[in-house]
Amino acid sequence: MKAEIIAVGTELLLGDILNSDAQFLSKELAELGITLQYQTVVGDNEDRLLDAMDIAFGRADLVITSGGLGPTDDDITKETAAKYFGRKMVLHEESKERLLSYFKDRKMSDTNMKQVYMPEGAIVLNNENGTAPGCIIEENSRAIAVLPGPPGELMPMFRKGVRPYLEKKQDFTLVSRELHLSGIGESAAAEEIRELMQTSTNPTIAPYAKDNEMLFRITARGRDRAECEALIKPVSDEIYKRLGRFIYGEDCETLVSSVMKALIDRGMTVSTAESCTGGMVASRLIDYPGASQAFITGMVTYTNESKARLLGVEEEVLEKYGAVSSQTAEQMCKGIAEKCGTDVGISTTGIAGPDGGTAEKPVGLVYIGVYIKGKAVTKRLKLSGDRNKIRNAAAAAAIELLRQQLNTQEDQ
Ligand code: ATP
Ligand code: MG
Repeated sequence: MKAEIIAVGTELLLGDILNSDAQFLSKELAELGITLQYQTVVGDNEDRLLDAMDIAFGRADLVITSGGLGPTDDDITKETAAKYFGRKMVLHEESKERLLSYFKDRKMSDTNMKQVYMPEGAIVLNNENGTAPGCIIEENSRAIAVLPGPPGELMPMFRKGVRPYLEKKQDFTLVSRELHLSGIGESAAAEEIRELMQTSTNPTIAPYAKDNEMLFRITARGRDRAECEALIKPVSDEIYKRLGRFIYGEDCETLVSSVMKALIDRGMTVSTAESCTGGMVASRLIDYPGASQAFITGMVTYTNESKARLLGVEEEVLEKYGAVSSQTAEQMCKGIAEKCGTDVGISTTGIAGPDGGTAEKPVGLVYIGVYIKGKAVTKRLKLSGDRNKIRNAAAAAAIELLRQQLNTQEDQ
């Protein structure tokens, strides 16, 4: 099956909003194994929209539109799709009842009624997050799915109404598993399994990198889920064999959630002492819902004076090795853990730039430290990029170092 996306809205053409609906739909179609070769953006204009539909159906059998389902005069997508297929607009009773009950305690304008007229014979898709229902018009082997613009309405409607419809049409199933890695770069990881990636066609293995982390997506095509799982297993096992120590989770788990879960499971507490990352490590850990079960205190100790006074970093260490040194990072993570009485302490200290670098200590030099139950480990990082990139990478590396130390602890 070949599909095309038509995003409708003059706002999109003017650059006022980003076409995130198309991004979402593209990903969903790829997951379903449906080929997508073209995307179109067109303004709220009937003639041009009819043209766009005609061109799309010349190349594809499925068209998905987003936007233009609202009550106002410039919302014309559904009516235009009906016109394209020569269908009348008819009142859809069930949608009318839903609309009336939605507006039970609110004032409804007359124009809202327009939303419950649907193309004759269409499959109506309820909108659980708004007032405009969507629909699918089928004709011979062609179909158009007309969806609302707001992503909070489009995404659930696609998942609930369109996805199952398309799955039924496909005579195969695709199943994916994602292995999330951290502490290794994309190219180094891909190198480890290069011939496996090249020779494996079902399942396929694709690497993706994002925010200092990476993942391999293994995708199998089969008659049903069980067959796909069976195809995925040996490939996944092989990747674990070669790269297992870098894999922190499967399918959507984030590095932070896997680390926080490990801390909570073991009943351990954590505190952070940050310099160049300015609280980013704490903020990331606290992103995890339920962080309060493990996270106790985060301090930003930016000056030498505060590192000494609040964390107990020795004056001699600061003088002899400097604030950006493994010795300081070590005393910072130990200091915060002891002052706050936590099992784990994390520290960062470095030069994020753009100024402040020297030949000996250039911009991008960062030391991170993790202290766990009596033992401190530090790591020297040589990061590149602008200030923001260096700080983000340092925060990610500190959390990765914690993951590694928790693993080491578990192995002992
Ligand atoms: P409404 O009932 O709110 O009018 P609609 O289905 O008519 O919804 P539009 O009027 O085209 O949709 O767009 C409404 C809002 O939805 C836009 O202001 C924008 O915030 C969001 N939106 C529309 N199209 C897209 C898109 N392609 N990607 C992301 N957001 C979109
Ligand atoms: Mg609208």
